[in-house]
Amino acid sequence: MTADKMVPMEGHTENHKHARRILPGATIGVLGGGQLGRMLALAGRAMGYRFVTLDPTPDAPCGQVADLQITAAYDDREAARELAKHADVITYEFENVDAEVAAMLMKESYVPQGSELLRTTQHRLREKRAVEAAGVSVAPYEPIGSLRDLERAVDKLGLPCVLKTATGGYDGKGQRVLRDKADVAEAYAELSGEGVELVLEQFIRFDKEISVIAARSPSGEIVTFPPAENIHLENILHISIAPARISREIVERAQRMAGKIAESLQVVGLIAVEMFVTPEGELYVNELAPRPHNSGHYTMEACRTSQFEQHLRAICNLPLTSTELLTPVVMVNVLGEHVAPLTDWMAGGGEAELERQWGITAKIHLYGKAGAKRKRKMGHVNLLTDDVEKALGWIAQSSIWSGR
Ligand code: AMP
Repeated sequence: MTADKMVPMEGHTENHKHARRILPGATIGVLGGGQLGRMLALAGRAMGYRFVTLDPTPDAPCGQVADLQITAAYDDREAARELAKHADVITYEFENVDAEVAAMLMKESYVPQGSELLRTTQHRLREKRAVEAAGVSVAPYEPIGSLRDLERAVDKLGLPCVLKTATGGYDGKGQRVLRDKADVAEAYAELSGEGVELVLEQFIRFDKEISVIAARSPSGEIVTFPPAENIHLENILHISIAPARISREIVERAQRMAGKIAESLQVVGLIAVEMFVTPEGELYVNELAPRPHNSGHYTMEACRTSQFEQHLRAICNLPLTSTELLTPVVMVNVLGEHVAPLTDWMAGGGEAELERQWGITAKIHLYGKAGAKRKRKMGHVNLLTDDVEKALGWIAQSSIWSGR
């Protein structure tokens, strides 16, 4: 990309008339010090960038690999100002950034992702409208302001359906599946509250859940990663499979949809697009995340460029590079209860045996979190294989994930 291709950024760039090119040696500020920030920093350090992060937990996963951690609450404006002072560019690793902090950072620092995308993805209704405005389908839905609205919407959309809070939900929290009319009043009572907005969605009988991560640079260049096929357990991502076991045509359609969303929302950096695939081959967008995504961790060893490097390239205004999948891969999450069996397995020479007996290479990533609480994401393993069925078979019989 040559300098003459660098066009002024439009729309949601607020205080930035021109994209800046941030070169190695510069310091990248990361709002949020969790595992996503950690893996961003690990990728960026290899390229020669320096990192400063803000997180309330001392010795946070990203803080451990950054040059500096500012330990303070996410909505602490003074701390955010301190982050801005140290950083040449600021990015975030979670979407629920406090609006006032976002506004302050936009004023005092360089935040190429802008704050409009945050505003959109913090709220399910705004997000759905933005996806529709991009010409992409979401599951039929109705905004809900009262019990009466909910009763009407249930009649319209049919049962089963899913009631969700418009803000603050994650990993299945803040949502209820309604299976019959008797559930309506109870679900409403459970999720509604002072100032809580709700949305009712039709229940999609999907065949598969997939996600596509798109990256867009300030000049409008867009690349998409191969779709990952995602399997959840108790609403938490368990496994991502690439290539996803879907037709070539659906792969291409899903990538086009993610590209259209990135373009329409004028994304700078990454946008992860979660979708349902129906038995008829229809695709509906479920959710967006304006950041690296758990379902993109497979890219770390399996793609020419990882999602983390690509995000940095986009926000630093470097040309985007190939997302090609180099090998079939299965990513499996390591939750709190899996850490001890995993490290025991490693101590017993597990990786060498897995290569010898199954021809699978395990790439282990642990995030350096102190407490291995049940269901907490502590790490992941990328299984590089010649056959994803084989890797899935190994996980199914492994004592690490079966709890045996
Ligand atoms: P979410 O918090 O929106 O990502 O939803 C968590 C999980 O609930 C999804 O990964 C799906 O497995 C399921 N789910 C959410 N919305 C729907 C829907 N409209 N139809 C069917 N399943 C859904």
